Parts: sequence; C-alpha cells; structure tokens
Amino acid sequence: MNDRNSSVRLPELFGSLVFNDRVMRERLPKETYKALRRTMELGKHLDPSVANVVANAMKDWAVEKGVTHFTHWFQPMTGITAEKHDSFISPEGDSSVIMEFSGKELVKGEPDASSFPSGGLRATFEARGYTAWDPSSYAFIKDGTLCIPTVFYSYGGEALDKKTPLLRSMEVINKQALRILRLFGNTDATRVTTTVGPEQEYFLVDKKLYEQREDLLLCGRTLFGNKPPKGQELEDHYFGVIKPRVAAFMKELNEELWKLGIFAKTEHNEVAPAQHELAPVFTNTNLATDHNQLTMEMMKKVADRHGLTCLLHEKPFDGVNGSGKHNNWSISTNTGINLLEPGDSPQENAQFLLFLTAVIKAVDEYQDLLRVSVASAGNDHRLGANEAPPAIVSMFLGDELTAILTSIEKGDDYSHKDQEDMKVGVHILPRFPKDNTDRNRTSPFAFTGNKFEFRMLGSELSISGPNVILNTIVAEELSQFADELEQAADFTAALQELIRRTITEHKRIIFNGNNYSDEWVEEAQRRGLLNLKTTVDALPSFIAEKNVKLFTKHKIFTVSELHSRYEILMDAYSKKLNIEALTMIDMARKQILPAVSSYLRDLTRSALDKKALAADLACDWETQTVRELSDCLSALHKSLGKLETHLHKAQRLSDVTQQGLYYKDTILRDMAAVREKADKAESLTAAEYWPFPSYTELLYHN
Ligand code: ADP
Ligand code: MG
Repeated sequence: MNDRNSSVRLPELFGSLVFNDRVMRERLPKETYKALRRTMELGKHLDPSVANVVANAMKDWAVEKGVTHFTHWFQPMTGITAEKHDSFISPEGDSSVIMEFSGKELVKGEPDASSFPSGGLRATFEARGYTAWDPSSYAFIKDGTLCIPTVFYSYGGEALDKKTPLLRSMEVINKQALRILRLFGNTDATRVTTTVGPEQEYFLVDKKLYEQREDLLLCGRTLFGNKPPKGQELEDHYFGVIKPRVAAFMKELNEELWKLGIFAKTEHNEVAPAQHELAPVFTNTNLATDHNQLTMEMMKKVADRHGLTCLLHEKPFDGVNGSGKHNNWSISTNTGINLLEPGDSPQENAQFLLFLTAVIKAVDEYQDLLRVSVASAGNDHRLGANEAPPAIVSMFLGDELTAILTSIEKGDDYSHKDQEDMKVGVHILPRFPKDNTDRNRTSPFAFTGNKFEFRMLGSELSISGPNVILNTIVAEELSQFADELEQAADFTAALQELIRRTITEHKRIIFNGNNYSDEWVEEAQRRGLLNLKTTVDALPSFIAEKNVKLFTKHKIFTVSELHSRYEILMDAYSKKLNIEALTMIDMARKQILPAVSSYLRDLTRSALDKKALAADLACDWETQTVRELSDCLSALHKSLGKLETHLHKAQRLSDVTQQGLYYKDTILRDMAAVREKADKAESLTAAEYWPFPSYTELLYHN
C-alpha cells in the first residue's frame, strides 16, 4: 500500500484507499446501493439489513487490500482525531478464524469515552460515549486499518465531538437556502450544501534539531530564541525554489493524500523561511473537514519519513510569520449552481445579491461568533501580529461590488462599462476576474469572486468550528429573509427593499482597506465593531444570550452542550499555557542556567589564566561579558521565581473563567519576562555552549 514508485498514475492512485461512490456502485447490490445513497443524500435512516450488506462489502474490499482491523474514526473535542482499533477476526470452532464485520459494528461503536473532554456533560450523565457511522463521509484505509467516519455522542445524546454540530449546521443551511430558492422559482434543486477548500500552511524543520528542543517537542512552538539575522525581509522564500528534501516530502504527501481521495493541488513556499502551503480542491464541508484532519495527520507522518518534522502550530517562531488556514467557503445546489457566484441573467443576480446580503448581515451580527470560532491559545500569538488579520472581523467585497451595493442602497443607477440600469432583479453584475485572490490579502473575510475566504483560522484548528458558525449564521439570516419574502405580496418589490435595507443596516462590516493598519483599529472602533483580542476575551460570546438563542433555535447546540464547550475551550487554554510555563521553567533551570554558567566559568578561568600569565594582558571582554551575563542570569532566576509562584496560584484556581483570565493576564506576562532575559543571555553566549538549536539552525537547515 505504500507504493512510492514515481511512475504511479494519478487516475489509478486517486481514491484507491477510499470506499467511495465508484466502489459502492461496483460492489453493492443495486437495491443496497440505492438505499445507501438515499441515506447519504437525504439523511434517511439506514435499515439494519442494508447495513449488514454494506459492512460485508466494505470488509471484503478492505481485506483484499491487506486490511485486518477496523476502527470508528471520530473527532473529539481535543481537536485531533481518535480511533479505537478492532480486528475483523472472529474465532470459528477451536482452531480457525473468519473475517467478520457486521452491520452493527459498522453503525455503532462504544469507545471508552472517559478519556475525552466532555466539559461536565458526563458529570451528570452516564460516562458512556457512542460512535455512530456518518454515511455522508466515505470509509477509507489508513495505516492498514479500515476507518469508519463517525460522530461521537454521550449516553444522554449530547454531542461530544466536532462533527455532530457540523452535520446539524449543514442540515439547517440546506433547509433555509432551499426556502429561498423556491421563492425564486427554483424547483430542481433538492439539496444545498456548503463547500470548503481549506488552504493549509505549515513549517518543516529538521527532525534532529526539533528533537533537541523540549519546547518544540512538548508545546509545538519555541518558547525561547532570538530572531535570526536574516528573516523574511528579502522575501526570497515566497514561491521560491523548493529544496530537494522538501520537494520529496511534497511529492510523497501528494500521493498519500491522493490515495485517500484528497485532491491536493498546489504547493508553494510561503513567506517565512521553512514555511509552505498546501491547497486541496474544494469539496462539501463535511468531507473537507475530514480531509483537512487527514491532511494534517499525513503531513506529520510523511515529514517524519523524510527526517523532517511538520509544525502546525500557529506561531512556532516569534518574530517570524505564523501559519494560518484559509477557509474558502461557498454554497452550492445539487444541480451545480454556486449561489455566491454572480450569474448571467438579472434573475440569477438578484438571487446572488440576496445570498450575498445574507452573508453580510450574518458576519455583522455574529462577528463575535466568528471570532470565537478561531480562538485558541496558539492563534492568539498570530491574530493581530503583522502577518495576519487583526482580531477585528470585517469583510472585503472589492470596489466594484461595494459600488454596486452603494448604488442599490441609494437607489441610483449604477453604470458599469456598457451595462446600464442597476436595479435589483434587472441588472447584470460584472463577473470577477478569475485570479483576484491577491486583491486584499489583509482582510479576515474576503469575497473572491464566487466564495468567501475566511482567513482568521489558525493552522492547527479543525475547520469544523468555523464552518458550524458560518453555516448557522447564514442559515439564520436566510430564514429571516425567507420569513419576510414568503409573506410579500409583491416579491420583486419586497426583495429590492430587503436588500436595500440590509445593506444600509450592515454596511459597517464592509472594509476594503488595509486591515493591518493602526487607522483601521481606530476606524473599526468608531464603527462599533468588536475587537476581541484574545481567546479569553472572545470565549464568553459563545454563551452570550443572543448566541444561545441562535444555536438552540436551529438545534445546533443545546444549552448544556454550549456550556460544556465553553468550559472545554477555556480549560484547554489554561492547560496549554500551564504546559508552556512548566516547559519554560524546565528548560531555563535544566538547560539555560547551567549552560550559561559553564560559559561563565570558562570565561572567568580564561581571564584568570591571562592574569597569571601577564598581569597587564587585557581581559575587558571577558570581564564585561561575565558581568553582563551574571546580571542576566540573576534577572532570569528572579523572573523564574515569579513565574513559579504565580503558576502555583493559577493551578489552584477552580473557576475556569477566572483561571483563563489569570493565565492570560499574569502567566503570559511572566513568561514574556523570562523569555526576554533568556534571549538576552543567548545573544551573549558562545554558540557551542547554547544548549539547543538556534532559530537560524531551525529555519535554514532543512
Ligand atoms: P486562487 O487562490 O488561485 O484564486 P482558487 O480560487 O481556485 O485559487 O482557490 C483557492 C481555494 O479555494 C482552493 O482550495 C479551492 O479549492 C477553493 N475554492 C474554489 N472554489 C470554491 C468554492 N466554490 N467553494 C469552496 N472553496 C472553493
Ligand atoms: Mg488564500
């Protein structure tokens, strides 16, 4: 299965490890196939007899490929995927075995749920957790195991994973978008899905160097280190020549992903040294979420085979651009219409404008939720730094589209080139040039012609959360629009009025300028836009009354699910910082202080030896350095003491919110103080004494 032959042909390779539609059609009896498709497309209940036939066919297919085990593959709240392996082998008689896989085993599993975060959900309910097959995502083979994509829920039915709310949100937007389409006389479309193409950034560093840094090993980011003399100022890495080892990694990664049916299309170097990006061809949001999790996992595995380590942390190196993930998002019908693409007829354009204004209203009214959806301790280092959008949510539409909206708002005619009359429902919209992604790279939420690019996501984040929010908030606006338009006596007039009013009320969210500038921060404040700088500032929005109302109305989360998620996220934030602080203390005490101390001893000896040789030999460099470094170590020692004291206090706080605040306000500040002294010591210490690889080595030796 690990065919690394360079002559492999893509068509044969692509999806070869996936029990996809083609395989199902080939291997399932016609009736079973039809029943399964109905389940997949319409969410219809799967009959147990059908499940048995599917399970058996899946097992035969997998066994032919050398597979002996299966697992329910799920996405708990840890943000990574989990699996529990079982063998197909059943004993038969005393001495023989048969390979078995029943419909029951396919459809439901019971992993030990107690080891996954539940945010108190299990305190009140039974500790059991169940996994249930999600037939809308294909089963696949990974590491010789048949993986069944599943959702994960508690005994009481509460979602314990990242997948369940996503599937719920897809149902909701389907329902509301169909209501709108019917109003426009569209009776063909029977299903509306959101689509996502997540562009994934990552760093590759030499594995041997990586292993010498406790901070990278335990935290995924460096907690110490001076900026290298050469950073990204020459901009010579972006789209630069790819180094051979990295190229070999990319080639193998592509092949591994293709086998899993993930169409990884482009790859190029990113702005920072050692940073790269991978973009897949978009697919429905459910599958895209699974695929992105698999992509991240494969990146780590394949890097390892090439003596490299893949860093997915949002900010592995201070002072160097961090990594994000661009969530390209759109809405499509099962008849192939992209609802966020201006059409060829005035009617299509009116429909486009309605969906567009729904997104505008959604982003404005739920800025807080979009911000929460990308909140993590890692991403806090990136948002608002000089390479990423600030923590302020706004949207970019481009001058042309903005001008059209303005003319609609004002009731003017909008004349574009040779087109005339710009009334909603009559006019032709300009098509966007295909390649316009560079129009405004600073916007957190940019319209790029036929989709929105949500750029605030951190590289490590599951894309599930942000898409749950996008699907839900847009569905909410569509439902409000449908409520209003379904009642209207004159549809065209009501539509015109609705679009105009929505633009007037929500245009403050549109910003086409430079989001990285200080002026924007001030301007955004004048406009009343939120600026939730950190995870701890953002998280309470998740359980704010207006948002609880939204989630419960659409049955995305129950009140207890929301509160449990809030706790899990806040707790994860504190835990992460706790690990970082402990790692810092460990590295400083066991590595930095002793190493610098040896250097000091040698310098002192050298000065004394010189004196002994000839009293008039100059020792000013040694003396000066010894003095500066001694001061530095003393200051470092003091800062460490402070961090330790505060850390003990932090660990004893029992309220998650109080604890999160304390880590954010006190521990982070103490950590910065420790780092400052240690980094100064690094700058004064001879390289051979420094106990772990420097930024220069990490960023340029790969
Ligand atoms: P470029 O950045 O060169 O303009 P594209 O616009 O083709 O490239 O795509 C960037 C990312 O957006 C890709 O991952 C692509 O698959 C994704 N994408 C393109 N169209 C859609 C769509 N309708 N829905 C979701 N994602 C899309
Ligand atoms: Mg992009």
